[in-house]
Amino acid sequence: MKRVVVFEAHGDDMEFMAGGTIAKLADRGHEVTLVVATDNDKGSFELSAEELRGVRDHEINGAAEALGIERVIPLGYSDGELAYQTTPGELRGTFMRIIRELKADIVFTWDPFTPYEGHADHRAVAVAASEAASFANFPLYYAEQLTGGLKPHYVSEQWFFAKAPRDQYKYIDIDGYIGKKIEALCRHEAQMVLTVADMKIHLEASGLDVPWLAALDPHDYHETIARRMKAAAKAVAERSGLACEYAEGFRRIRYGGIESLARGQELAEDV
Ligand SMILES: [Zn+2]
Repeated sequence: MKRVVVFEAHGDDMEFMAGGTIAKLADRGHEVTLVVATDNDKGSFELSAEELRGVRDHEINGAAEALGIERVIPLGYSDGELAYQTTPGELRGTFMRIIRELKADIVFTWDPFTPYEGHADHRAVAVAASEAASFANFPLYYAEQLTGGLKPHYVSEQWFFAKAPRDQYKYIDIDGYIGKKIEALCRHEAQMVLTVADMKIHLEASGLDVPWLAALDPHDYHETIARRMKAAAKAVAERSGLACEYAEGFRRIRYGGIESLARGQELAEDV
């Protein structure tokens, strides 16, 4: 059993980028913790910030349950303000403490080195989580955390969400888990209504003609989300070379790349 910790900015980041893989890891007996940095309180055209914060925990916990996630740690920073409400050093320290306390073996997060990432929350989480994972075993980093018996901790694998195909080289067959991925996403009702409403805004502004989308009530999001997720996972599967219908792709580093010194030897896969 490995301990997996996912650091995301918003409830639904992980589901979009890695929901099938996380469900598969949980199903194989690995213990998954989800750390949600923000409270999603900017994500609606309909609800107030207060209403959004009110539904957030319910939606995040429902999605986590659908994926078999063991625990959720919400940090409660304001959506869209993460990089401005806290310093990079504080956020990195918060993440490092969680890694040390939970003894994370595998960390999933946004990719700090991907270009064209438009969301400041994603960039902030990516940098803080990857640095925390890389240095949690160095006793002189955040040495004050180690005074109460907490120990430095070595993280063996970092898996980065990869939006761009060129960043994906570690692929996971999620044929048995695409349903759970979609179910988990759909538990994020406020976010899915927003996703469809946002598509409709782009469509209307563009003047293009997509009749089914123009006619769609954003609250009837289930089929649209399912169709989009299946199409995306199918495209990844086609690039992956795996014999599967649906896949997710990542940039992954394990054991600091030491495998290159051990040619001919193979490490076992967890998923
Ligand atoms: Zn996000």
